[in-house]
Amino acid sequence: MKITLIGTGYVGLVTGACFAEVGHHVLCVDNDREKISTLKSGRIPIYEPGLEDLVKNNVAAGRLAFSDSTQHGVEHGDVIFIAVPTPPQADGSVDLTYIEAVAREIAQCLRPGQYRVIVDKSTVPVKTGEKVAETIKRYCSKGCEFDVVSNPEFLREGCAVADLMQPDRIVIGSRSQRATDIMKAIYEPFHAPIYTTDINSAELIKHAANSFLALKISYINAIAAICEAAGANVDEVADGMGADKRIGRAFLNAGLGYGGSCFPKDIKAFIHISEELGVPFNLLKEVEKINSGQLDRFLQKIKNKLWVLKNKTLGVLGLAFKCDTDDVRCSVSIELCQRLLNEGALLRVTDPRALAKARAVLGEVNVTYCENPADVFEKVEAVILATEWKQFRNLPWRDLKDKMIAPIVFDGRNLLDYKSLRDMGYDYIGVGRP
Ligand code: NAD
Repeated sequence: MKITLIGTGYVGLVTGACFAEVGHHVLCVDNDREKISTLKSGRIPIYEPGLEDLVKNNVAAGRLAFSDSTQHGVEHGDVIFIAVPTPPQADGSVDLTYIEAVAREIAQCLRPGQYRVIVDKSTVPVKTGEKVAETIKRYCSKGCEFDVVSNPEFLREGCAVADLMQPDRIVIGSRSQRATDIMKAIYEPFHAPIYTTDINSAELIKHAANSFLALKISYINAIAAICEAAGANVDEVADGMGADKRIGRAFLNAGLGYGGSCFPKDIKAFIHISEELGVPFNLLKEVEKINSGQLDRFLQKIKNKLWVLKNKTLGVLGLAFKCDTDDVRCSVSIELCQRLLNEGALLRVTDPRALAKARAVLGEVNVTYCENPADVFEKVEAVILATEWKQFRNLPWRDLKDKMIAPIVFDGRNLLDYKSLRDMGYDYIGVGRP
């Protein structure tokens, strides 16, 4: 099938590449000309495992191309996916200007007698589909035929290619059988269960799912605080809870809390949406409160141990918002670094993929960027693990200890084997661990 993605970011690019991989003919459009020329020159603007090969192979096979023209995109695709940002506004509501702008641009490019399915893949508040349809109707020429569909995306950065190639489920919110049949044909090669719903329900599924995952994270973080007060071990509590199939072990890892470009904004948005609908979702306010408290509590532990932070050099392992990505948007690790810098600390930081993007945010003052994680340990008063990259577990911790002024480790992700670190002579402080 001929498919267009408007918005070639984390979602648009990976989705476009995966659609091409199963045989569709895909055009990825973006109004960021630099991004499109980077892609046209064979370079990939983001890091995502497996993405580079996927893009290169499908471009070479003639199934994947890039353009900065919406007009070109609307001419190419029988189905046009919208995958543009939906950032938060100051009051927590979603800024829908990107969605509105794209809906309008598409409308102005539609031609009478050319049926198009316009699919919203961005995460949007319930009832956005109705507004997108109204907008397109308002700005398109007479006689243009189209349907609007909601198809929320559930990929996780860091394993986006795998999530898209083997999805748990596909959600298609549609009022039109013709559009639903086309959407089913697009997803047929993925062999995933398909849930067809009305548009409002599809939009709600995304916010409900992300909120529930955030709730699980805050739940275990609240348990971690109780474990610390009681001298128990949150890992063991999570294993014991998670073994129950009704609960499941996933998303029960205590730590610095959730960050990234999705959870914080989606939870805020859902709180706002529920209030606007007159049914306040107060439970989610508590989820947010627990989450923001995690970093406060962790910083307090650092201060309790090191006392004054001013002019002390600290090492930070991990800057991306999670492992296996270069994305630092709303990264808790970046916020941690900023708060340490505000206290006057000097930082030595590393990340396997996110150093360049972190440098653009943290700047050069009082931060030393280390390609080699071992260099982070050079004459530091403590090391803080902030992102759960597996390779940090396998560092030569025994040897690295001698480079430090004091062998203190703050493990913000409970990644490290605390028993062996203590045997090596480290002072280890985790989250909810004894
Ligand atoms: P992103 O910022 O990585 O990419 C969005 C792209 O849209 C950018 O490249 C931007 O230049 C482009 N764009 C903006 N306006 C445009 C326009 N008028 N025409 C063409 N291109 C335009 O964002 P993302 O992370 O891919 O997220 C996109 C949407 O998907 C958001 O609603 C997000 O909440 C949702 N989502 C994201 C993830 C994730 O893990 N990143 C997962 C599921 C859903």
